[in-house]
Amino acid sequence: MTAWETLAKVMFPDVEKTPDDYEKQYPPRDLPEGARVVRIAPSPTGFLHLGVFFTAMVNRLTADVSRGVFFFRLEDTDKKREVEGGAADILEGMNTYGLSIDEGFVAPGEIHGEYGPYQQSKRAVIYHTYAKSLVEQGLAYPCFCTEDARAAARQQQEAEKARTGYYGPYAICRNLTPEQAIEKIQNGEPYVVRLRAPGDPERRIKFTDLIKGTIEMPENDEDLVLLKSDGIPTYHFAHAVDDHLMRTTLVIRGDEWISSVPKHIQLFSLLGFKAPKFAHVSPIMKEDNGGKRKLSKRHDPEAAMHFYAEQGYPKESVLEYLMTIANSDFEDWRRTHPDDDRSSFPFNLKKMSVSGALFDMNKLNDVSKNVISRMTAEEVSQKVLAWAEKYDSAFYNLLVKDKNFTTGIFNIDRENAKPRKDLAKWSDARDYTAYFFEETFEPTVELPETVSSEDAKAIINAYLAANVPTEDKQVWFEAVKALCPALGFSPDVKAYKQNPDAFKGHVGDVSTVLRLAVTGRRNTPDLCAIMNLLGSDRVKARLTAFSDSLTN
Ligand code: GLU
Repeated sequence: MTAWETLAKVMFPDVEKTPDDYEKQYPPRDLPEGARVVRIAPSPTGFLHLGVFFTAMVNRLTADVSRGVFFFRLEDTDKKREVEGGAADILEGMNTYGLSIDEGFVAPGEIHGEYGPYQQSKRAVIYHTYAKSLVEQGLAYPCFCTEDARAAARQQQEAEKARTGYYGPYAICRNLTPEQAIEKIQNGEPYVVRLRAPGDPERRIKFTDLIKGTIEMPENDEDLVLLKSDGIPTYHFAHAVDDHLMRTTLVIRGDEWISSVPKHIQLFSLLGFKAPKFAHVSPIMKEDNGGKRKLSKRHDPEAAMHFYAEQGYPKESVLEYLMTIANSDFEDWRRTHPDDDRSSFPFNLKKMSVSGALFDMNKLNDVSKNVISRMTAEEVSQKVLAWAEKYDSAFYNLLVKDKNFTTGIFNIDRENAKPRKDLAKWSDARDYTAYFFEETFEPTVELPETVSSEDAKAIINAYLAANVPTEDKQVWFEAVKALCPALGFSPDVKAYKQNPDAFKGHVGDVSTVLRLAVTGRRNTPDLCAIMNLLGSDRVKARLTAFSDSLTN
């Protein structure tokens, strides 16, 4: 047994298996040519963030276009930052948006697949087996430097204007003999395990990022920590071991990791693994004071997926919008394929933004208005009810009293060739429907500038007296026009414009008075349909009250 092998045994007395055992336990996957194995590997440190969801979506799309596999691994090694229920929140969020996961954690508490455990806290023995093997080969070593010693070294490096870090002459424990290390361990000195990094920073490594293109960086010479003093792996080490054993072929992750790629490629190589391909996703950006900055988890409510549910954005809208961020030509495709399923869009990693796409709330609203305008009244009604039940009980109570009436509201100007686009999210329905309910109707005393109180009263009296039927829009409008001449208004807008002095106004003014009286608003969907839904009693009451409120 070599001295390094003896040291490895002292460091890892409990390890019984060898890397070979794991190679056999997790054989390469039997997949068709070109199929990519991708994954999302979140840490349960809070609720589901837009960035994580977006990266998961990009992974899903990549798996789909290559007929590959998308799995979920939980990176729960940082117990200090872990939030209770964090993993469930992430999974529920993904499930809610219909983002299906093939393997690993597929739903809260539900795990499938042959390449597990899919939870890093359950993989300690695997990491230790690989760390042991590196020590046996002299490729890793225990480092006994204390926090204080590290801080002092950093200060010295700063004073010398040297690069900070544990490398070259600063990597003190690198020079311990296995015997010296064993003695320290037997004295009970705590230690971390470091890689003996063979890189030369004068040399450069080159790799191709599937989103960002060819990248060149100096080789890594930093003796990075593989295992912390409690035996828990660092991200770098766990990433190499897990993505190898889970047979990931393409790592799609946030671009905060891009500067670590030289470390990762080196690790894969020293461990005897074939490195996966990489694609680093740029963060979603936000416009701020004319500049661009990363969407902030702390300061921007829209960075949390909960925000969209609370505001009542349909899932469809969020997914459609994120597609426009993922591949900017999605919008053109959507214009030419209005009714196609999103999954037939030819998604391509190479078309992703290198600098970071801008999050644009107005665009989300526009996309969502289109999505909602394509829904049936029944669908809108159901979704608004479901949203209100959860987020606005007063509104829910109004809507649920008479579901047919509620559906009737959303049916106005819908299900035709040019549906209105008033709603971007379910919370907009509160204001949109307010005048349909006595509880939330806000009467007004406003009149069009050109119409006097007297004329307004005359219009309302004439309308009430005429008992105009509201079943048919055309019939209704003809009847309103017919009231005009006696009131001194032109039934025809063109005729009025040709000779404005001959009239008090035109039929548009007449209907505006009626609209203001019945809805309290100047702009609404089709007034005849509104009156028809409200029913003649309520319409009469509102018209009368409006007329009464007008001062002479
Ligand atoms: N747990 C890492 C993170 O949340 C995963 C990065 C990766 O996908 O490899 O940033």
